[in-house]
Amino acid sequence: MPHYRVRFVNPQRVYQNLKPQLDAAYFEVMEGGDFIDRHQLAAFEEHLAALVGTRYAVGLNSGYDALQMSLRAAGIGPGGEVIVPAHTFVATASAVVNVGATPVLVDVGGDFNINVDLIEDAITPRTRALLPVHLNGHMADMVAVMDIAARHRLPVIEDACQTLGGKLNGRAAGAWGLTGCWSFYPFKILGGYGDGGAITTDDAGLATFARRMRYNGEDRQTGAYHGHGFTCLLDNLQAAFLDVKLRQLPAGIERRREIAERYRRGMEGIPGLRLPHYDLPGYEDVFQNYVVRSTAGDAFSNYLTSQGIEVLVQFRKPYYRYEDLKLVDRGFPETEALSAEVCSLPIYPELTDEEVDEVIAVVRSFYHL
Ligand SMILES: *Cc1c(COP(=O)(O)O)cnc(C)c1O
Repeated sequence: MPHYRVRFVNPQRVYQNLKPQLDAAYFEVMEGGDFIDRHQLAAFEEHLAALVGTRYAVGLNSGYDALQMSLRAAGIGPGGEVIVPAHTFVATASAVVNVGATPVLVDVGGDFNINVDLIEDAITPRTRALLPVHLNGHMADMVAVMDIAARHRLPVIEDACQTLGGKLNGRAAGAWGLTGCWSFYPFKILGGYGDGGAITTDDAGLATFARRMRYNGEDRQTGAYHGHGFTCLLDNLQAAFLDVKLRQLPAGIERRREIAERYRRGMEGIPGLRLPHYDLPGYEDVFQNYVVRSTAGDAFSNYLTSQGIEVLVQFRKPYYRYEDLKLVDRGFPETEALSAEVCSLPIYPELTDEEVDEVIAVVRSFYHL
């Protein structure tokens, strides 16, 4: 392993900064023996719903479970088709497959999100839902998505796993569709210390369905079973940690925006390098990731690594090209083009300005600047 001068993530620094609060949360849970569905979970759900602006949030044990639970709640199963973007984390499509439905992939645009102009061509009489993804901290064009959904009478499930705190026209990611799906995987913008997830929704029936199904179908008040469910409750200990970190989220997003601006000032205008700033009216981006596109592809990402800058390449090979996934490749030119060029630079609130400048200097040196 090369010696990295700038790490891609830095959980140790997060812990240093929040040690008193996180340790207090740990001791409270341990001393109370509060592991399953206790007040810490309820408090976290309340704070998450308030942040997103929905009536309910239901804690689950992963973003994947948020997706599959939402699909089940919408009654989607065998014979149905669900529209998903061709460029996303594989779990978006896997959730559709694992409820027995068929993902129908649609190419993305220059902002890495589903190209709304291509959605209607992919709708068939079997389409049961639209599943847009808000990738990298930038929302999909939800005004257009909701309009298409209304015209075709389709529910919308938002894969918002990468855009907690993001907004469009003042309305938060995860507050537009039937549900918003969240992941608290350690390196998401709100990360726990293991897997975690949630759905947000305004639908009381859906929230009740998810609360029962996450606990094997049981109504915790009456003990009655209301269906064959799952074991996918967000751990109370994780909820306690996440509630601590949620309080830091607005400040963390501000810092991410500062870093993004610093990157922009340092790298703007380099031929062959595209930066992830869209400057669209109404969009409030949170920069969960800072994904640049270099026409040099691997030569660019390998150079950064060799110079001690830890980067992530997601994804050089689109998920639909993995034969074992048995997905239909209808031809996705933008996904193909960006996949050859993507490179995620380090971005997290604990990154110092000096480190950001080091990344910029290495990028500039790749271009002989
Ligand atoms: C992280 C992520 C998921 C899955 O979340 P898990 O908690 O890892 O199951 C789904 N979709 C997107 C876009 C993600 O980034």
